[in-house]
Amino acid sequence: SAPLSIVRGAGEAAGHGILMRTGEAFQGYRLVDTIVLDKTGTLTQGRPVVREVEAFAGTEAELVALAAAAEASSEHPLAQAVVKAAFGHGAVPPEVDAFEAIPGKGVVARIGDGDVLVGSPAFLSGEGIDLSFARLRIGALEEAGRTVIVVGRGGRLLGLLALDDRLRADAVQAIAALRKESLRTVLLTGDNERAARRIAAEAGIDEVHAGVLPDGKAEIVRGFQVLGKVAMVGDGINDAPALMQANVGIAMGGGTEIAIEAADIIILSNRLAALPVARRISRRSYAKML
Ligand code: ADP
Ligand code: MG
Repeated sequence: SAPLSIVRGAGEAAGHGILMRTGEAFQGYRLVDTIVLDKTGTLTQGRPVVREVEAFAGTEAELVALAAAAEASSEHPLAQAVVKAAFGHGAVPPEVDAFEAIPGKGVVARIGDGDVLVGSPAFLSGEGIDLSFARLRIGALEEAGRTVIVVGRGGRLLGLLALDDRLRADAVQAIAALRKESLRTVLLTGDNERAARRIAAEAGIDEVHAGVLPDGKAEIVRGFQVLGKVAMVGDGINDAPALMQANVGIAMGGGTEIAIEAADIIILSNRLAALPVARRISRRSYAKML
C-alpha cells in the first residue's frame, strides 16, 4: 500500500482539482526541471474565434461556407471555430463526399469535383498552392498573434481566415510561479512561430518551439530529457506521444480522451495554477516520507 504521506498528498491534490494517477507522478513531478506546455487548449482557452475572413475569389460567405463544409467532420478546435463562423455568416455549407484530417496540418475534403484544402499556410504551400500574393497579409496577421488558416481548391488559393484564442486567465500567474521555482518553461506548438512568440511573451515564457508536427513534439521532449527531467502539459490528440515520452505527462481535464489516457496527472479544474500547486504537494509528500 502507498505511504501515508502520499495518500494524504493525493487527497490534498484532489481538493485542488488535481488527479495524481500514480505514485510515479508524485515522485517524478518534484524532480522535474523543465515544463513544456502545448499552446492551444493548454496555455490558451482552446476556444479560437474567427476574427477575419478574406476571400480572394468569390464572397466571404462562400469562402466560410466552403471551409466549414471541409471542417465539419474535424474535431480540431480551429475546425469548430470555422463551423461557428459559417453560422454567423448565414452561409450554407456544400455537401462533402470524402474527408481526411491531417494532424498538425489541416483537412482535405472532396466537395463537388475537386479537393478543398483547409489548413496552415505551410500545409497548402507544401501541396503546391501558390501563396506568394498573400504572404505579406498572412505575416501581418500572424505578427498580431493570429492563427491564419488558408483555403485552396484546384491548386488555387481562395482566401484566408484569421483566428485568435485567448490566454487562460491564470496563465501569467502560473508561469511566474513555476519560474520562481527555477523551472525552465517552454512553449511547444504546431501553430506558426509569430503567433506562438506573441502568446509566449504574453504568458511570460521565453523559449518557443513552433511549427512542430505531432511526432516532433515527443522528439523535442526527448531532447530536453538529455538535460534533466521533463513534464509535458497538453490537451490534444497530437500531444499524446509527447505526454508519454515526458517523465511526467500532465493533461488538462477538458482535453481529448487520448491525452487524458496518456497522462500521469490530470488537471480536472483546467486551471494552470494547479501546475505549481501540484509540484508543491509532490515535494511535501516526499519530504515527509524521508
Ligand atoms: P497545436 O500544437 O497548437 O495544438 P496543431 O498541431 O493541432 O496545433 O495544429 C497545427 C497547425 O495546423 C494549426 O495552427 C493550423 O494551422 C493547422 N491545422 C491543424 N488542424 C487543422 C484543421 N482542422 N483546420 C485548419 N488548420 C488546421
Ligand atoms: Mg492543444
